[in-house]
This record gives sequence, C-alpha cells and structure tokens, in this order.
Amino acid sequence: VETAPEEHAHLIGRRVVLMPDVPCYKCPQCLQGNYNLCDVGRSIGWELPGGFAEDVAVPPETLKAGGLAYVPDALPDQEAVLAEPVACALRGQDALSIGPADTVLIVGAGPMGYLHTCLARLRGAGRIILSDLLARRLEQTREAPADIRLVVDDRFETTVKDLTRARGGADVVIIAAATADAQRTAVRLAAKRGQVNFYASLPADEAGRFDSNPIHARELRIVATRDATVPALHAALDLLASRRLPVGPLMKAMEPFDALPSLLARFDRADVLKPTVRLAG
Ligand SMILES: [Zn+2]
Repeated sequence: VETAPEEHAHLIGRRVVLMPDVPCYKCPQCLQGNYNLCDVGRSIGWELPGGFAEDVAVPPETLKAGGLAYVPDALPDQEAVLAEPVACALRGQDALSIGPADTVLIVGAGPMGYLHTCLARLRGAGRIILSDLLARRLEQTREAPADIRLVVDDRFETTVKDLTRARGGADVVIIAAATADAQRTAVRLAAKRGQVNFYASLPADEAGRFDSNPIHARELRIVATRDATVPALHAALDLLASRRLPVGPLMKAMEPFDALPSLLARFDRADVLKPTVRLAG
C-alpha cells in the first residue's frame, strides 16, 4: 500500500491482497452479509478498473467489508496472489462434508480442480479421483495428490462406476469444469445421498437443458458455491503461509507483463495450468 487516508494509515507499506468483489451495502444480499452475492455485483478488473494494473485504487466499500487482508510475512508475493482462488476452493469444500470413508470425484483438472484435489486430501478424503477431458491437464496436475486420474473418454463413466461399485457412486463430486456435459455426468456418478458441488459456472452457450432426474432418484445433496468471502480469504492466506498446500504447479507460468497476450493465448489452448503476470517494481 502506497498511500491511504489517515484512518487507514496503518496500511501504508504493508503487503495486502484485495477482494475483487466490491459490495454495494444496500441490496438485500449485502444487508444479510452475503457480499459475494451482491445484486449490484461489481468487481475490480470487470466493472471497476484495476485488472492487470500496477496501481489500483481501493474502493472505500472494500475497506468497509474487510476486503483488504495483510499478507503474512512468510508468504512470497507470487504465492499470495493465489489467496482468492484458494479462498473460493475453501468455500467450495466448506459447503461439503468430506471424510476418510469418502471417494471424492473431481471433474476438471484445471487450476481449481488441482486446488480441490489438494484441499480434499488435507480434509482427509479416503480416495480422490481427478478427471479431465484433456490428458495434458492431468499431466500438468500430476503433482496433485489424487489416487486415480482419468481422462473423460467413452469409458470414463463405466470406469468410475466400477471403482465406486461398493457405494454405487462417488460420495462427493466437485464439478470444476465449465461444461453442461460435466454437470450431467457428475450427477450420474454420485452415490445415492451423495453430495455434489456445482462449483464452476457455465458460459451462456453451455447453459442448456439439464436432466434433474438423477438428483431426485439418488436423493443427492446439491450445493453450489461461488466466489470468495472475507473469512475465506483470511483462511486461504493462513493456509498458504502454513506451506501445507503444494502450490508449485500453479507457479510455473509466471511471465512479465509484456508477455500477457501470449500467456493468455497459451492458457486458452490449455498449454499452461495457471498464468501469472509479474508487474514491474
Ligand atoms: Zn449489494
């Protein structure tokens, strides 16, 4: 923090991470404290300036919401930037119950699927199956502590059903892939009374007809979590500082700002797991 009004002078010189969502404080969701569900829904880097910027003006609403958190001294900058995605994943699993008898199926081996695998292991998951349409995603996340890795191909559903035959499906399914196919497959592969988190949002052209019958027939417990919250952001920073989360694979594509266009193109082609831009200074 370079400058701050007098009442926030204690921030000057400190390293901080910022909640990108800026609540309005007026809508029904904000009045209930659900700032991540704010009906106005402004975010830094979307409706408000500050994405990929060397200098960011922090809106007063962010300070009021506690959306500025100190980075622990032991945590390097390049790992602190993961606080927000880690916070999102933490919320995703806080909404689930994961135990040593559970098989957790994670659909999608992108950066979020990787983090969900690491967190499910820390939470004591009995067995973790990590899956993706792309073999190269499974290769990029080979350090994830999954017990089984599966490419989503013609045999995928049969293989998962065989692996989970004793319970009739996976006890917990986390959908970390932004396709309707992933959602449809996930509810078919959940065990009766299993838990499913619809973690990824779908692009508009993917939001189509969805067969809800397996949800009813299997008495699934469906949850959905989106975005981070202030408490989750603090928990994420603590977890990162504890070094219990192996973040190495997420650090491999760190490039200077000039390389941003090519870095994003590589990300679109799934050539890199998690692009990070290093700003000057
Ligand atoms: Zn609001």
